[in-house]
Amino acid sequence: MKALLLVDLQNDFMPGGALAVHEGLEILPVINDLLQQPFDVIVATKDWHPKDHGSFAANQGKQPGDRIMLEGLEQILWPTHCVQGSQGAEFAPGWDSSKVHKTIYKGTDKNTDSYSTFFDNGHRNSTGLFNYLKEKQVKDIFIAGLATDYCVKYSVFDAAHLGLNTYVISDGCRGVNLQPNDSKRAFEEMKQAGAHVIEYKDISKNL
Ligand SMILES: [Zn+2]
Repeated sequence: MKALLLVDLQNDFMPGGALAVHEGLEILPVINDLLQQPFDVIVATKDWHPKDHGSFAANQGKQPGDRIMLEGLEQILWPTHCVQGSQGAEFAPGWDSSKVHKTIYKGTDKNTDSYSTFFDNGHRNSTGLFNYLKEKQVKDIFIAGLATDYCVKYSVFDAAHLGLNTYVISDGCRGVNLQPNDSKRAFEEMKQAGAHVIEYKDISKNL
């Protein structure tokens, strides 16, 4: 079975949002094209934080971009974003979220962030995504979304390590780029982790 995994296509990660990926809107045509492809399973994720989440700079009396230790892990602090039930946490308009079979929530524990859509950053708790994919007998996973250099990258690492045949659709992703080359480097790291980095135009060769 083949799954499409769409990572964090939420208002707060789009231009105008609290943690905007500036080029985020550019991927939506690719996302809608992907949704026309014959995937057996379509999963989308939501970053879904409680208000008192430890990754929010405001909750630590610090500035976004500062780093702290959180439950033994180095944590970059972010602006307050994707608070459970807020407008910012809703799926962004402009892509057909009605096609999603299953939504996976991550970052729900206030003491641990979760970039990967499979596990929290300490690999202590699972989001349930892998069990769901196993139940559906998924062997191939195609990943797109936001942001290349964080949640997409760590999801790709975990998918590959879990033994899934992992594809990343590079033009269906955009990055935060705290450093200018972060996205480029992230795609290289994904390749090194065993993932196939492809463009949407090559999807039919691989489906
Ligand atoms: Zn978050």
